[in-house]
Amino acid sequence: MEDKTAIVTGAGRGIGAATALLAADHGYGVCVNYLHNEAAADDVVRKIRERGGRAIAVGADVSVEADVIDMFETSDKELGVLSALVNNAGILAPQMRVDAMNAGRIDRIMRTNVTGCFICARQAVKRMSSAYGGKGGAIVNVSSMASKLGSPGEYVDYAASKAAVDALTIGLAGEVAAEGIRVNAVRPGIIYTDIHASGGEPGRVDRVKAGVPMQRGGHPEEVAEAIIWLLSGAASYSTGCFIDVSGGR
Ligand code: NAP
Repeated sequence: MEDKTAIVTGAGRGIGAATALLAADHGYGVCVNYLHNEAAADDVVRKIRERGGRAIAVGADVSVEADVIDMFETSDKELGVLSALVNNAGILAPQMRVDAMNAGRIDRIMRTNVTGCFICARQAVKRMSSAYGGKGGAIVNVSSMASKLGSPGEYVDYAASKAAVDALTIGLAGEVAAEGIRVNAVRPGIIYTDIHASGGEPGRVDRVKAGVPMQRGGHPEEVAEAIIWLLSGAASYSTGCFIDVSGGR
């Protein structure tokens, strides 16, 4: 199998963990990034190694430029030439209306969900682009259906951050299309992960699922399948596009 390397941000839990595991099954050496939960990231690495794959866990806050630079350098040294980036790390904050939000909260969401994606994408382009002597590659951004729905009464700041991720996807795709890099995104709907607890409602998926045409929440593995397809050669003529993984909502 050809040597491929992927960095998956926020890969200790949820959609990132499912993506890291599936990427390894598809032959990628995987840099499993995490913020605080080292044990969860180590567990993903252990599972990949048990299946005969290559993986390392790297702690880095994607909203901190120096951390991101160090993470990419560690991946270069330990896993080799980068061929894929999954910009997955993302956060939300407790549900509230816009008229209750303070600037600190909004900045925190934007730094992780937007600035983090930009900085990671920049580091990937510098390695993959033919303009820098690279061999090409693929980037998948994990956006959200919130970018289209706006999340009223819950987290409009989060929804706006994901709209920015959509614009990054389209704009960056145009910049690097002729340099061997494809940039696409997935927009998950409501997926069973820990993120809803950080919004203050661990049971949110089950509350909202009746409004989903498919009448159920999604699973991280279902999002991972779309991400891995977009990274793969099977998606060779797709760039600047989106796969909604949302049960029809
Ligand atoms: P999750 O279960 O809460 O996991 C988030 C992961 O991101 C964790 O591994 C966490 O690390 C990591 N992380 C958070 N902040 C980080 C930072 N600053 N730097 C590096 N890593 C960081 O979340 P999820 O539901 O899988 O969400 C993954 C992505 O899908 C996010 O972008 C989210 O917005 C998007 N999404 C999710 C849903 C959904 O319903 N779940 C729907 C639409 C979009 P630690 O483990 O160290 O804390």
